[in-house]
Amino acid sequence: MEERGVVDPGRDSPDPPYRVYATMEGSLLEDLRAARHRKIVLQTPAGLLRNATDLASQIREATGTPVVTLVRACFGACDPPSPEEAPGADALVTLGHAPIPNMRRHLTTYFVEMRQKGKDPELLAETVRSAKLPSRLGLVASIQHLDLLPALARELGVRGTETRIGQGGRRLAYLGQALGCNYTSAESVSREVEGYLFVGTGRFHPLGLAFAVEQPVWALDPLSGALSEPLDRERLIRRRLLTIAQATPARRWGILASAFDGQNRLGMAATLKARAEAHGRQAEILIFDRLDPADLLGRDLEAYVSTACPRIALDDGELFERPLLTAPEFLSALGERPLLPYRFDTYA
Ligand code: SF4
Repeated sequence: MEERGVVDPGRDSPDPPYRVYATMEGSLLEDLRAARHRKIVLQTPAGLLRNATDLASQIREATGTPVVTLVRACFGACDPPSPEEAPGADALVTLGHAPIPNMRRHLTTYFVEMRQKGKDPELLAETVRSAKLPSRLGLVASIQHLDLLPALARELGVRGTETRIGQGGRRLAYLGQALGCNYTSAESVSREVEGYLFVGTGRFHPLGLAFAVEQPVWALDPLSGALSEPLDRERLIRRRLLTIAQATPARRWGILASAFDGQNRLGMAATLKARAEAHGRQAEILIFDRLDPADLLGRDLEAYVSTACPRIALDDGELFERPLLTAPEFLSALGERPLLPYRFDTYA
């Protein structure tokens, strides 16, 4: 595990520093006590809600500092509480996410990445070998399972599979890291590999990866040891092309823009509005923090484009009454870029 300790954004940045912990077992409580914060806000993702109350009391008892727990759903390090959501707090403890290095932060932040060990890399490599995947693979992992990549690469190498672990853009903190909105670490090795192996649980990250890269994607669950079939990229893209076709005739567009610090692409929203108007369409920018499909009901708009988390359109688009596109899809609907090759909306 790469221990990063305190990361100070530097003298030119107005942002407070942040600290990174692999698990809860490290020096987190000691560091929180030593920092003597005024008030701490605790943010936990859905999978860890069950522990939130105990954890809040544990922090309160160990530090003597008031702790409040944020209730709204949290999807990534991109949606920390605003100063209005946690009045008086000067520190945030956030579980299950890595820092997004190029994002603004208002609170001193303690990222507890909740890294996990997973099964023996030899066993995992043996599973991959017997499934006869391509002999040159790009390795990508969610934050919880990144520590497995070097050992897995070694074991795959012994079994004749060459691997590459790429360096991503400024939104990613680590080599080989996958974020649901940014697969630049995988893309950086795309010329050197014939397929990708995602290491982690669930379908969220491998699905996004399948949109972002052209080579086949397999998902390896390091806890159960199960290896998926290659994801059906063609089907995923066919469905998006259908949504683009439904949205293309729209004259009145809503441009969705989030106020969350790590989902805020208001500049892009303004650019897309100008592009729509240049093509004779009407476009209105709609601002929100967390978006509920019900908030858009009854509006006099025929289609939407999201500049917030790109996964809202890709994963939850069907929950919306009108077609919802990503930014590159919107440019295709305007006729400004070809439909294919499909371009994933990478949040840089
Ligand atoms: S923008 Fe979406 S995919 Fe990216 S970190 Fe936030 S919730 Fe995850």
